[in-house]
Amino acid sequence: MEILIKHADILQNGGLAKDRDILIEDSRVSGIGKIECEAESKIEGRGLLAMPGLINMHTHLGLTMARGLFDDLSMEDFLKQTELFDRRNSEESIRRSALIGMAEMIATGTTCFLDFYYSEDIIAKVAEAIGMRCALAWAVLDEDKTTQKGSPVKNCEHFLSRGGSDLVNRGVALQGVYACSDETMLKAKEIASETFLTMHLSESQGEVYSFLKERGKRPAEHISSLGLADDRFIAVHCVFLTKREIEGLKSSTAVHCPSSNLKLANGIAPVPELIEAGSNLTIGTDSAATNNSLNMFTEMRSASLLHKSTHWDPSIMGYETCLEIATKNGARALGIDAGTIEEGKLADIVLVDERSIYPFTPSNLVYCTTQRVDTTIVNGRILYRKGEFSDEIKKLLQ
Ligand SMILES: [Zn+2]
Repeated sequence: MEILIKHADILQNGGLAKDRDILIEDSRVSGIGKIECEAESKIEGRGLLAMPGLINMHTHLGLTMARGLFDDLSMEDFLKQTELFDRRNSEESIRRSALIGMAEMIATGTTCFLDFYYSEDIIAKVAEAIGMRCALAWAVLDEDKTTQKGSPVKNCEHFLSRGGSDLVNRGVALQGVYACSDETMLKAKEIASETFLTMHLSESQGEVYSFLKERGKRPAEHISSLGLADDRFIAVHCVFLTKREIEGLKSSTAVHCPSSNLKLANGIAPVPELIEAGSNLTIGTDSAATNNSLNMFTEMRSASLLHKSTHWDPSIMGYETCLEIATKNGARALGIDAGTIEEGKLADIVLVDERSIYPFTPSNLVYCTTQRVDTTIVNGRILYRKGEFSDEIKKLLQ
């Protein structure tokens, strides 16, 4: 399959390369510049901005149907409610929930996501059926603290043994120090030797202080001492960290989820400090139950405004940084050859209608909220175009 996009502007290093053609052959970009050739699909790109697809680094797609059900609750009550929800969640509702979540992300410019849940095999089938790229991490926790049937470690091993594909990368997730013994955490690290390991870390004051009371040290400090925080480790939330803990995460990826942290009143992660220490900073929406949106454009906006304000410094988290953490850094964390639009790279490309923001500037991709996604291409296939999903997605959504 070839796609030729004519006369689009390309987002490059925070600026615009004007009036370029982009040729996509199979799953990759094969040419950029002035290109005249026949292609199975031609897109008139005048008035469109081509940007790398956004990478949402933290979702729980099995909870999409819980959107708006558990609002305005404390973290503790929220977790109790989601556990009850999970106990009732059937295979069919997880499938439907994942599909609706993926459709929302595709329509808002996300081309890849990292999901954290059990039953990831159901989510893998949906992603393969519609052509969405993802990294799926099976949730591992102590057997006496889970709603999963059987042993979470064994379930995860079984999930990993089925192997990845061009679109689906399989990995391991740790629920958090409050639900995982040292033995469980070390076992998760062992089974993740060939892939990534993600974990909820230091999300709330409750988590940090109970662990401190019980073990005499803080969660992130403990994770580092167990040897988990390497370059394949993806720590989610990272709200309550000391300077020493930030230093301990410098080789790892950190996922910032500003809306979720704000809505659950958990606090504000030390994001500029994590970047300064050298962590690979990325961004995620978290589930529709805490956000309640899976739109990465608004997530970038929240992140930028939040840290400018709390640091009394408008130069912090500029729009170029936000675009980079939502594209390039996510690709780096997941080892995906995407995150920028270049010849030879995977064709995970989003076309934004420049007329949806007036006047159009790249900074308004982050600061303005009216941007309209015209087209979403994943792995060289058009999944969304001018308000319509591909036939596969439409059929499944019926
Ligand atoms: Zn989460």
